[in-house]
Amino acid sequence: MKCGYCGKQIKGTAEYCSAYCREKGEAGKNFARKTRLPFWIVQIIAIVAIAVGIMLIAVQKHDQGAMFVSAGLALSGVGLLAFPRAGKGRGTLSQVCGSLFFALAVVIFLLWR
Ligand SMILES: [Zn+2]
Repeated sequence: MKCGYCGKQIKGTAEYCSAYCREKGEAGKNFARKTRLPFWIVQIIAIVAIAVGIMLIAVQKHDQGAMFVSAGLALSGVGLLAFPRAGKGRGTLSQVCGSLFFALAVVIFLLWR
């Protein structure tokens, strides 16, 4: 078994290695559970914005398209950062992706300003 918070190897079937990790891990899980709906709403809006942007680019409306794509990416990134997923691995992944999407959004915005 691996600790559900810090990822340390632990013997037996315990979910966490210590009381501290249990507290942090459960708090993260609760937060992820509570924010699941806003998280997905934000991601769906972001995906729709990106899809609209790609369609606009496809019909040669590059400026508006890039704006939609960068807005969608920024929104998705903010959503990932604001509502981290539970668990060490997924929490880190959502933060890395969130920062990446946001940085990409800024780059697109600056390029097509
Ligand atoms: Zn731990």
